Amino acid sequence: MAGGVAVPWARPSTGPGRKAARIVDVACVHGWLTEVAGSLEAERDYLTQLDAAIGDADHGINMHRGFTAVMRRVDDLDAATPGILLKTAGRTFVSTVGGAAGPLYGTAFLAAGEILDDGDTFGPRRLLQALRASLEGVQRIGAASEGDKTMVDALAPALAAYELELRTGGSLETAVRAAREAASDGARATVPMQARKGRASYLGPRSVGHQDPGATSTSLMFAALERAVLADRTQRFAAGARPRGSRP
Ligand code: ADP
Ligand code: MG
Repeated sequence: MAGGVAVPWARPSTGPGRKAARIVDVACVHGWLTEVAGSLEAERDYLTQLDAAIGDADHGINMHRGFTAVMRRVDDLDAATPGILLKTAGRTFVSTVGGAAGPLYGTAFLAAGEILDDGDTFGPRRLLQALRASLEGVQRIGAASEGDKTMVDALAPALAAYELELRTGGSLETAVRAAREAASDGARATVPMQARKGRASYLGPRSVGHQDPGATSTSLMFAALERAVLADRTQRFAAGARPRGSRP
């Protein structure tokens, strides 16, 4: 927090408590968006190269431009909740990114933000609902199914893996890890697919043999989510949950 000035996603530094270990708050969501922005900057050229092979070579540029605008807009907010951050991200994406990815990601972020509503925190099950709403939003406007070689091929398996991990007793941390692994496997699995949606579908069989750019950017977002959740846990631990027997 620069110069001790209150920012809407700052968290009080004391008293994280037991329950806090199972919840996500606005600081963690802001951390996630920041991680996504950094990752899209680092991978901009890679995403653009992927899109050069089966599209029009703009995916990295689109995503980077969109997320730069998202961070600018988010950092201008006077007050924020997780839902406000995600809805702001979604609206910004829709208004600043053209092509397929703008409305698709914009809808995904908006749908997740609506599920989180105006609560200050949310738990792993609410995150599951948010991820489900994102996938439904993407499929509602893009009409892609798994196997069509789109971002759905990363998002759908990530959601399924996250859900399975929670249902079998996993924690938020293990569930976001499972989601990250599934998204990354899902993106890689697009290589042998023939595109049936989006610009890449115009290539027909020539789209085979290339990884889908949108599935790749989705997998970057899940990797960023895992990093944000783990960083948040480390911070909370350092702030309040000292190991038993340690000196204050
Ligand atoms: P454009 O194709 O308009 O240039 P981008 O290059 O930014 O847009 O994004 C391309 C990505 O969008 C693809 O790699 C694919 O993952 C995703 N995409 C395209 N059409 C669809 C769709 N109908 N449903 C889901 N994702 C789609
Ligand atoms: Mg493109």
